[in-house]
Amino acid sequence: MLTDKVASLDVERIRADFPILASTLHAADDRPGVPLVYLDNAASTQRPRQVIQSIVDTYEKHYANVHRGIHWLSDQSTDLYEESRNKVRAFVNADDSGEVLFTRGTTESINLVARSWCDANLRAGDEILLTEMEHHSNIVPWQQAAERTGAVVRFLPITDDGRLDLDVLDQFLTERTRVFAVAAISNVLGTINPLETLIARAHAAGALVLVDAAQSVPHQPTDVSALGADFVAFSGHKMLGPSGVGVLYARRDLLDAMPPFLGGGSMIRKVTTSGFEPADLPSKFEAGTPPIVSAIALGAAIDYLQGQGMEAIQQHEHRLCVLAHEVLDSVGGVQRLGPSPGDKCGIVSFKLDRVHAHDVAQILDRQGIAVRAGHHCAMPLHKRLRVAASTRASFYLYNTPHEVEQLGRALEAAKSIFRRKS
Ligand code: PMP
Repeated sequence: MLTDKVASLDVERIRADFPILASTLHAADDRPGVPLVYLDNAASTQRPRQVIQSIVDTYEKHYANVHRGIHWLSDQSTDLYEESRNKVRAFVNADDSGEVLFTRGTTESINLVARSWCDANLRAGDEILLTEMEHHSNIVPWQQAAERTGAVVRFLPITDDGRLDLDVLDQFLTERTRVFAVAAISNVLGTINPLETLIARAHAAGALVLVDAAQSVPHQPTDVSALGADFVAFSGHKMLGPSGVGVLYARRDLLDAMPPFLGGGSMIRKVTTSGFEPADLPSKFEAGTPPIVSAIALGAAIDYLQGQGMEAIQQHEHRLCVLAHEVLDSVGGVQRLGPSPGDKCGIVSFKLDRVHAHDVAQILDRQGIAVRAGHHCAMPLHKRLRVAASTRASFYLYNTPHEVEQLGRALEAAKSIFRRKS
C-alpha cells in the first residue's frame, strides 16, 4: 500500500552508486555523446558499486568452492554463500533457509518445478492453469510438462485493459486443476495481479500456486509466508544483482517430497554403483558447483535495496509511472497497453501510431534512451492484444522524472521523423 509516510529516495545519491549511469553514448569526432537514459529495467537492471565490489572482494579474498573443501578458504566462501541465502530468506520472509534454493534465474526455477513436481504428480487429464499475460518462461516449461504427462494447459483470459478476468476464474480453476502458475506482475502490461485472491481461490480448488515474481520481488516488499504461495521464482539480475543467479522459494514439505531436478555432485548424501540417496535441503536441488560469486553478490544487492527501503522504491516507481502515463498521453498517437497507474508498477508498454516498435526503439537509442521493443517474450499476450510488437519503458530506483520527460520529447521527435517520411 502506498502512503505519504514513506521517505522519498535520494535519487541523485543513488545514481552516484551506479558507474554505468554516467555513460555517454554515440560520441563521434564532430559531436559529443548523449547521456545514457536507462529505461530497460524489466529486462535487466544495472549494478551499484557495492555489488560490483562484492564480486571483486569474493574473487580477491574469499573464493573457493563451497561445501567441499576442509580448508579455510572453502569455509569462508561457504559461510558467505550461506549468509547470502539467509539474506534472501529474510528479504522474502521465508520460514527457513532450506526453502530458499539458488538457481540460475526465474526460468530455471520454474523449470525445476515443472520438471520435478509435475513429473512426479501429474496424470493425463490433469490441468495446469496459466494466464494470457505470462512470460514464455512461465508457459513453455508447463507445455513441456504437459507433453510428458498428458496434462492439459489452460489459459485464464485477460480483459481488454490488461487485467486478469476474475469473473471467469471459476470456469478455469476446476477440480482438475493441479497447479496454477501466475505472474505477480506482468512484464509487458505492468499489471499487479491480486495474488492473495488468486492463491486463496486456487487453494480452495485444491491446486498449488507458483508465483512468477521476476517483476515483483525487485520492486516491492515481498512476504512469501503471508502470501501463502507454494512456489515463488525470481532472478538476481532484475534486482541489482549479477546475472546467472536466481531463487526458487518453495514450501519445505513440497521440496521434501519432490525428486531432485538435476543430478551430480553436492545433491547427494550417498552414491553407490546401484543408486544414490539425495542430500537434505537445500543441497538436494543444487547439483554441481553453484553460482558462488553471483549468489554472494545477490546478498549485497539485497543489502542495497533494503538500505533504500522497498516501500520507498515502490512509491518512487509509482510516481514515475503516473508521470509516464501523462507524458505518453500528451504525445498523441500513443496506444498504451495495460491498466491505469493505480493497478500497475513502473512498466509502461505502448505503440506509436504507424511506427514499428523497433523503429521507435532505434530512434530513442540515438538519443541515448534504452528501451525494449518486440514481444518481450510474451507472444500469446501480444496476439491477444492484437499487437504485433510494442515498445516498453521500465523504471527503477535510479530513474528520474527528468528522464521520463526526455522519453516524451524523444517520442515527439520520432513522430515528426515518421510524419515527414510518410
Ligand atoms: N518471468 C517474467 C515475468 C520476466 O519478466 C522474466 C524476465 N524477462 C522471466 C520470467 C525470465 O527471467 P530470467 O530470464 O531471468 O530467467
